[in-house]
Amino acid sequence: MKLLRYGPRGAEKPGLLDAAGQIRDLSGHVADITGDLLSPEGLARLAAIDPAALPVVEGSPRYGVPVAKVGKFLAIGLNFADHAKEAGLEPPPEPIFFTKAISCLNGPNDDVMLPKDAEKGDWEVELGVVIGKRARYVEQAEALDYVAGYVLVNDVSERAFQKELGSQWDKGKGCDTFGPVGPWLVTADEVGDPQDLDMWLDLNGRRMQTGNTRTMIFGVAELIAYMSRFVTLEPGDILTTGTPPGVGEGQKPDKIFLKPGDVMRLGVEKLGEQQQTVVAWTKEGVA
Ligand code: ZN
Repeated sequence: MKLLRYGPRGAEKPGLLDAAGQIRDLSGHVADITGDLLSPEGLARLAAIDPAALPVVEGSPRYGVPVAKVGKFLAIGLNFADHAKEAGLEPPPEPIFFTKAISCLNGPNDDVMLPKDAEKGDWEVELGVVIGKRARYVEQAEALDYVAGYVLVNDVSERAFQKELGSQWDKGKGCDTFGPVGPWLVTADEVGDPQDLDMWLDLNGRRMQTGNTRTMIFGVAELIAYMSRFVTLEPGDILTTGTPPGVGEGQKPDKIFLKPGDVMRLGVEKLGEQQQTVVAWTKEGVA
C-alpha cells in the first residue's frame, strides 16, 4: 500500500496511490494519515478498503509529507561504508544520531530554500523509516516489526552550519525546507528487505549519488534497536538512515554546493522519486 497526502501546504488530504498510479481520496474513511493509523491494526483497516471504490483525484496535486503530525525526525550520520570513505572518515563504532527539526519537513517536490548566509548547501538521498508502534528497548530480531513503512528522504544539509559552527550537526540539518519526505509511504510488506534498495540522486540532470542500502554500516533493524535505548520511538516518527557516496562536499577535484536554480532529482527503489528546485533565501520563507 502506498499512502500519501495531497493538496496545498497545511491543508493536505489523505490518499493512496492505486495500482494504476492514480491518487485515490481517502478522506471519506480517515481524517488524515497520522501515527495512530500506522499500527498493524490501522494499516489492516486501510488495506481492507477497495481502492477502486475510492474517488479518483484528478489533475496533478502537490504532494505533502505522507505522514501528518510527525513527532520526531531523527537521522543517522555516516552510515554507509562507502560514504564514510568518501568523507575520509573511519566508520563510526556506534551509530551517530542527530535530529532534524520538525519545522524542516517539506513536500517531496517543494522548493528547497537555502538559508541566509548559506554557502555549502548539499544533498543526501536516504531511506526513511516510519515507525508503526511504540518502540522502547527493542531487540534487533524484532525491530522490523515496529516499522509501518518506508519513505524517500532528502537529508538536505548546509555543511558550514553543520560542521563549522560548533560541536553538533543540528544547525545545518534542520533549516526550513531541509526535509523533503515522500511522495508516499510504502508499507513494509510491499518493500520487503530494506537492505537491498538502490538509491540515486541527480543534480541538474547529472548523476551524483549512486548507492544501495546494502552498504549501510548499521542496518535498519540494528538502528531501531539502538535508537530505542535512548529515545522512545512513537508511531509516525521518521528515522532517516544515512546517505551513500556522492554528496556535494565529496566531489573531486572541487566540491559542489547548491545554488539557486539548481534542480535535485532523487529516488530510492520502490519508494518513488522527488524533485526539488533550489531557491534563494527570503525573509518570508516558503509559503
Ligand atoms: Zn543524512
